[in-house]
Amino acid sequence: MVEPVSWQLAMKRAIRSGSELRKTVGLPPDPAEDLDAAGKLAGERDFPTFAPLEYISRIRPGDAEDPLLRQILPVTDEQTEKAGFGADPVGDLNSLVSPGVLHKYEGRALILTTAACGIHCRYCFRREFPYREAGSRQNDWLPSIEYIEQHPDIEEVILSGGDPLTTSDEKLQELMSALEKIHHLKRLRIHSRMPVVIPQRVTGQLLDMLSSSRLATWMVIHANHPHELSDSVLSGMGAMIDAGIPVLNQSVLLRGVNDRSETLIELCRLLVNHRIQPYYLHQLDRVRGATHFEVPIETGMKIIEDLRSELPGFAVPQYVVEKPGEKSKSPIQTFTTNGSS
Ligand code: SF4
Repeated sequence: MVEPVSWQLAMKRAIRSGSELRKTVGLPPDPAEDLDAAGKLAGERDFPTFAPLEYISRIRPGDAEDPLLRQILPVTDEQTEKAGFGADPVGDLNSLVSPGVLHKYEGRALILTTAACGIHCRYCFRREFPYREAGSRQNDWLPSIEYIEQHPDIEEVILSGGDPLTTSDEKLQELMSALEKIHHLKRLRIHSRMPVVIPQRVTGQLLDMLSSSRLATWMVIHANHPHELSDSVLSGMGAMIDAGIPVLNQSVLLRGVNDRSETLIELCRLLVNHRIQPYYLHQLDRVRGATHFEVPIETGMKIIEDLRSELPGFAVPQYVVEKPGEKSKSPIQTFTTNGSS
């Protein structure tokens, strides 16, 4: 049980090294793994360990194969180079249209709200993203707002990053107020892992702000494994839904984390039992340093078939892959044995 503190303090006291993380979860030092070098050697940019105690408390002590630990512990496998894996796997830099704005899809633009996250996921497709060079400056969103003002075809803004909910409620309110003044904007989508990793981020002030917005506001969280959905995570999401904010979940299919049908069935069941809609199951974006997380597409297709046979249709996420340059994510089609899709 972790002593409850504000989300800001939870960020401050997060574990910041692989060796410290092993110690915190009750694992002995591993001389074969230079954990602190692992994150550095994977790419040109450091991607250091960052893990809040609230998340670590859900890891089974002493279990090196724990699926939550696997997502955050740097390992020397990150140094494996493989053809097809690179620094910008989904072509973000080609979609950078203005400082801090990606405009990839019709009618939607994404603001790189901040470079900061509440956790560092070792498979993250933006683990090497050059936020500073791309113009993502927390608290200076003017160029992003100007771009959206000048493009009347944009009806939806996605706040992403990094994690937009590492921004204070006050700063977020400033950004939302500026966006609400843009008449052609209809929807706001917030992509955040914070409600999962530091559930106390769902403050009363945040709920008031989101529920009183002129914009139809949607929350998209990111959970990959049922053990991530602690009681406090689910109660925060319940409060958000009660406040009128629809909540969707996206997951990444990850080897050794959720590549068994039973795991994803349990995750999706838990989500819909708490009124959260499973949205996407992403095939891994082939980012350098994450080769050891990749699951064959055939395995993913079989898992989706199993989900379909066990769960109602609305509980089955869309299995998708993002291809650089495509105008939308590409669904990975699966077929049942009687041939219907
Ligand atoms: S929270 Fe999201 S953006 Fe941040 S490291 Fe994890 S996957 Fe990447």
